[in-house]
Formats: sequence, C-alpha cells, structure tokens
Amino acid sequence: MSDAWIDDPAEVERRLRARLAELEGLSAGSGESRAAVELDQTRVGRLSRMDAMQGQAMAQATEARRQQEVRRIYAALQRLADGEYGACVQCGEEIAPKRLALDPAVPTCIDCAGG
Ligand SMILES: [Zn+2]
Repeated sequence: MSDAWIDDPAEVERRLRARLAELEGLSAGSGESRAAVELDQTRVGRLSRMDAMQGQAMAQATEARRQQEVRRIYAALQRLADGEYGACVQCGEEIAPKRLALDPAVPTCIDCAGG
C-alpha cells in the first residue's frame, strides 16, 4: 500500500472530510436508537430496563468517543488550512508519514503519544 497520498493536502482533506461525514452519519443513527430505548423503558420490567440502561450508557460512551474523533478531525483540517499539518502539536517534529497514513487526524508524533 502506498502512503504517497499523505503528501497531497487535497487528498488528506478529502479523506478527513469523508471520515467526518461517516461519523456524522453514525451519530444521526445512534440518536434514533437512544430514543427507542427510552420508549421501551415505559413498558418493560425491571431487569430488561437495567439492560436497556446499560445499553444506553454504552451508546453514550460510543457517542462520546465519536464526538472526540470529530473534534480531532476538525483540528486536523484546521492544521491543514494553517499549513501546519504533519507537524506534532506537542514537539513540532514531523509526524512519520506512515503514522499519518494510518490515522490522518493523529495530532502527535509517536514519541509524544507514547510518553
Ligand atoms: Zn512530538
């Protein structure tokens, strides 16, 4: 697999925006499932209500992670616009292209992420 696209800001932006659209689509879907859980709680017994609440807590945790990734992607798009994309936000060193290719929204180099 070639990582050459990481050197092309237009392609990086396209991929970041595609991921963003995907995440926003998922968020809209999970809103519906949360509403369904609330409806169920009015008519089901105690045990399955606990199941439903547990499911709801998990859905909220998933949603929180999703929102965090959305913020990461917006931050990456901002760095792209500022011409700072590819530089570690902590130490300013260049982030390895392979690392960026795996996760184009990654804000730090491997040293800063590890330590
Ligand atoms: Zn760093």
